[in-house]
Amino acid sequence: MDLSEILEELKKQKDSGRKIVGIMAHQMIPEEIIHASGAIPLKLSFSGPEEISMRGTEYLTAATCPLARSTVGFFEDGNEFYSLIDVFLGGNYCNGDVCASEYISKYFKIPLIHFPIPWMDNSPSVHYYQTLISNLKKSLENIFKIQITDEQISNSISSYNQIRKFFQEIKPKIGMGSQFQEILNELYLLGPDIFLRNIKTQQDFVKKEEQNTAIAFTGSFVGINDHILETIENCGFQISYNNSESIFYFDELIPSGEPMAALAQYYLQNHYSFRMLETQHQINRLVEKVKSLELKGTILHVLKFCDPYVSTRNYIKDSLSEQGYAILEIERDYDQSIEQIKTRLEAFREMIE
Ligand code: SF4
Repeated sequence: MDLSEILEELKKQKDSGRKIVGIMAHQMIPEEIIHASGAIPLKLSFSGPEEISMRGTEYLTAATCPLARSTVGFFEDGNEFYSLIDVFLGGNYCNGDVCASEYISKYFKIPLIHFPIPWMDNSPSVHYYQTLISNLKKSLENIFKIQITDEQISNSISSYNQIRKFFQEIKPKIGMGSQFQEILNELYLLGPDIFLRNIKTQQDFVKKEEQNTAIAFTGSFVGINDHILETIENCGFQISYNNSESIFYFDELIPSGEPMAALAQYYLQNHYSFRMLETQHQINRLVEKVKSLELKGTILHVLKFCDPYVSTRNYIKDSLSEQGYAILEIERDYDQSIEQIKTRLEAFREMIE
């Protein structure tokens, strides 16, 4: 579906009485609870261009990441998708999340549900996180004047698991580059029901015989309108593994069992996020993928002022380099010249081939 079809579909759903819950485009939000409330979870995944980020700078300082600034800028600009949002869910994922959530709620008059995510993933944190999920459920029940049953949550878990299986199946065929991201973006805007209704079967995806240099991609979010993945592919790379912030698909399925406990454990312990205090196991997982898929290198994408990556990038780079794996960091804003990025990518490809 193209963006205009997606918008029409969302408008139709809204006219039929369905609520739309906006979410900052991050990991570790148990969307199943939102979906179980009958609402559509809509991830704020539009990004750039620079003019829109500049509009966000009227609210947030220029030292906030360009994604958060452009998200606020899209509200200011009257983005038709974001105008459909009834309730907004934000928290403490990062500095961009904290600032953008508060300003969006205050200046665009959208009720905000705070969802503060722990910084550690040990057992007490999982227990605390489960309480947060229960609070989220209560907030949605109060706002929408409904009751959310365990059965509804379990049904939502199976819908999302079906989607996870679909992405697992298409990943070996199409890789995890721009095409994979484009399909995820449809999910982020449409929510699971309409996505599942329109989903192609995995047989519709034909495995490509790739001649390009296979690499991993990690780091900051890549949103709709951001062409960094295509730029990388056009420079002769094939993105075979991607654990950047824009991938909310997880390798594992949510196991059966008491739904709130299963969600808490899953979301706090099965993420790809570098925003947590302990990042060594994320690095180990990345290295393991680079090794097992025999990838030639890794591209670390850092949006300026994106604190989860600004604070960990040296650690990520040093860890990979020390183990003999090539890594290229691209730090950027939405106004950075694509030509400059291409030059660096081409030099990197020559180096690792
Ligand atoms: S994760 Fe990074 S890019 Fe995303 S909102 Fe937070 S600071 Fe911005």
